[in-house]
Amino acid sequence: MNEFDLICRYFTRATPNTLLGVGDDAALLQVSPGNVLAVSSDMLVSGTHFFADADPFLLGHKTLAVNLSDMAAMGALPRWATLSLSLPAVEAAWLERFSAGFFALAQQHGVELVGGDTTRGPLNLCVTIFGEVGAQQALRRGGAQLGDEIWVSGTLGDAALALAHLQGRVALSETEFVACAPALHQPCPRVALGLALRGVASSAIDVSDGLLADLGHILEASQLGAELDFVQLPGSAVLRSYLPQALANQCLLSGGDDYELCFTVPAARHAEVLSIATRLGLPLACIGRTVATRGCVVHDAAGLSIHVEAAGYDHFR
Ligand code: ADP
Ligand code: MG
Repeated sequence: MNEFDLICRYFTRATPNTLLGVGDDAALLQVSPGNVLAVSSDMLVSGTHFFADADPFLLGHKTLAVNLSDMAAMGALPRWATLSLSLPAVEAAWLERFSAGFFALAQQHGVELVGGDTTRGPLNLCVTIFGEVGAQQALRRGGAQLGDEIWVSGTLGDAALALAHLQGRVALSETEFVACAPALHQPCPRVALGLALRGVASSAIDVSDGLLADLGHILEASQLGAELDFVQLPGSAVLRSYLPQALANQCLLSGGDDYELCFTVPAARHAEVLSIATRLGLPLACIGRTVATRGCVVHDAAGLSIHVEAAGYDHFR
């Protein structure tokens, strides 16, 4: 199979919402009137972001999911994606499953694959995603105000706990692992939440590197600090059963790969956030508030501040 057969066979699908898709030198995209393009890229590298023998269907899902998550965090509606692949060899069964996982999620979100690049090399998967949002509606990191509530969606730490299990740093039971693994292998990008938070949230970010690290980006951009209530942090039943072990603490506060949204909201809009949670059927937890003193303090149940390692994952550290 040559390069063009491969692209045609695995990565070319109908694109009814695109002026021009795969097959020319560039795709042509038209955003809805009054909107601007929101563009973001995320690359997954074998050995760094996933194990080389990872299930290709789940890998196809995750490659797109991490990019959809960036659209969610901007309050953007994802519309198009490009996919740049380097592959060690053409393996039909692998490509079949990978593209099936990718397109299953793309279809759920109405995202069209409109181009990319395909080369031989170490397994490397890069998606660029294009979404649209009203210019004044985008959820930026720098918009948090003093006294805003800090919220997070879903649960935190399961992906890190599942990874710790795979790395032999904790021994989960089979049932526990089965409960946590989807967070790691099949994250659910919170696109509907991002859209619902337009005009409600003052800032937002997706939690890819750990709550403290990612909230830290909001705080830095907004020139604020935060106080968090540890007991309000949303952990799954499995994760909570491992508290107060240091590893479980770390998963909650600094675990990566959750792809939940962390966002700030003026305190007066508390009830609106709760009604969004009900409407979407997605738990949203108010975990603290912004303060003027820079840095992030985490209070435990007794009101004592917990020492936390603020740093998330950094590829170059
Ligand atoms: P060029 O030589 O202009 O870089 P290519 O030969 O690399 O073009 O690609 C041919 C067409 O196939 C282009 O429209 C490109 O966007 C698309 N394409 C290449 N790889 C992929 C891929 N993995 N997924 C989707 N489209 C792809
Ligand atoms: Mg090319």
